[in-house]
Amino acid sequence: MLFRSLEYYGSEILRKQSRELDCSTEQDFIETLINDMIRILYTENGLGLAAPQSGENVRLFILNPEELDLSGHSVFINPQIEVSGTFLKDEEGCLSIPGIFELVKRPSHVNLTALDQAGRSFSLELDDYAARAAQHEYDHLEGILFIDRLSPIRKRLIRKRLSEIKEEYGSGKRIL
Ligand SMILES: [Zn+2]
Repeated sequence: MLFRSLEYYGSEILRKQSRELDCSTEQDFIETLINDMIRILYTENGLGLAAPQSGENVRLFILNPEELDLSGHSVFINPQIEVSGTFLKDEEGCLSIPGIFELVKRPSHVNLTALDQAGRSFSLELDDYAARAAQHEYDHLEGILFIDRLSPIRKRLIRKRLSEIKEEYGSGKRIL
């Protein structure tokens, strides 16, 4: 059986804008994708995973409800986010960029609207690390990585590690 695998820094898929999903016509595709993404997220011990990280340029991300306060939600399809609050700095990493952890400044509050796995619309107010995780995953749908949000100096300091990741993972893929 062929499984989707994690895409790593260097993969073009991580740099593309993702398209919206149609929950009425793409049900089977969405279901398999979510199952694959959950498998990758838990195998890798992540807080969240966006569809492009598992090789699909579609607007869907999942967050780990065991680690974040998400009021019972974990699947976010065609999400829309509105950010507010003050900018806070905290450490971030990304499963697609192994070994790099950096402080990133982001707004402290998020109003997130999305569809769940059954295609039902819902809204959530997120704070703390859940707000940060949602913004990080939403960025993935726009082809943005957290390292893009670092200062030029920090970017320069991680340049070597980034090229190591490119070399290590070559095609940007590793089968789990
Ligand atoms: Zn990420």
